[in-house]
Amino acid sequence: MSNHNTAALLLEYFDKHKRALPWRGVNDAYKTWLSEIMLQQTTVKTVTPYYEKFIAKWADVHALANAPLDDILREWAGLGYYSRARNLHACAQSLSVHFPQNAADLAKLKGIGAYTSSAIAAIAFHEPIAVVDGNVERVWGRFRTINGLENVRRDLQTYVPHDRPGDFAEMLMDLGATHCSPRNPTCALCPLNADCVAYNTGKIAEYPAKKLKKPLPEKRALCFIYVNEGRVLVETRPNKGLLGGMSGVPCSEWVLAADFNMAEALGEIKDYTIKNTVIRHVFTHFALELTPVIVHDKRAGRYIDISDHNEAFPTLFNKVLASLSLE
Ligand code: SF4
Repeated sequence: MSNHNTAALLLEYFDKHKRALPWRGVNDAYKTWLSEIMLQQTTVKTVTPYYEKFIAKWADVHALANAPLDDILREWAGLGYYSRARNLHACAQSLSVHFPQNAADLAKLKGIGAYTSSAIAAIAFHEPIAVVDGNVERVWGRFRTINGLENVRRDLQTYVPHDRPGDFAEMLMDLGATHCSPRNPTCALCPLNADCVAYNTGKIAEYPAKKLKKPLPEKRALCFIYVNEGRVLVETRPNKGLLGGMSGVPCSEWVLAADFNMAEALGEIKDYTIKNTVIRHVFTHFALELTPVIVHDKRAGRYIDISDHNEAFPTLFNKVLASLSLE
């Protein structure tokens, strides 16, 4: 089948079977940008309520630029990868009037990489550019038996229809999320099955080629639970660093497990009880184990009722607080 016919087949399928997503067909670069940033490393199901909340609160990029960062972080709490929220705000503030309308200029903005810039350019500005993330790499890699994101991108570029590049990109995203799943693709239902080389030669398992995963480094730390009349001390973490600007309980430094030293982690704290529990949380680049320590020393600060408060915590600290309230 010619490249043109493959694109036509996919677009016809898209018109009939596309997933109904709130950021589809909106013709608004702000909404495309917001959804693409939220969808990085995060599922559609998780993103949808956050996307709707953000759009209701900040209807355009200027509203978002004028919002205090703290408000954005609070609304983002629970979505993870918090540098995305800070970059979102910085990017909104850096725009003079509108979003640039091509991938090359979009990629110069904060928090927008090669994939996101091409997705916004194709979907919102109809730039005929290939949009390749891990899902599309898998679909197209199997269809054409090509390995490697850059090889896939180069090949896919020759198929991109100039009249509907955004729909073409979204169709491939849909295939990655539906029929062409990593483990059990439903090839019999896939619109590409007649010409899919991997399917027709029994080589699906070879695409994409397996990458050897290195085990994540393990880190350890203590988290300190100061209690005053049933309320728990919380603080705002420094803006720089992981979970920067978010609410949490105080912690010792997060160090590699092999370097962890209890006396150093406790520092000046003298009167305490170490809990017989460990909170484990996996970040992108390391796993963290936090041991809660109930501190009996007094300390001034912001104390909250953990069963009734308005603070928005990232998942790590929600786990810590849940471990306390379950006692
Ligand atoms: S036929 Fe199967 S392997 Fe090929 S693109 Fe479709 S779902 Fe993926």
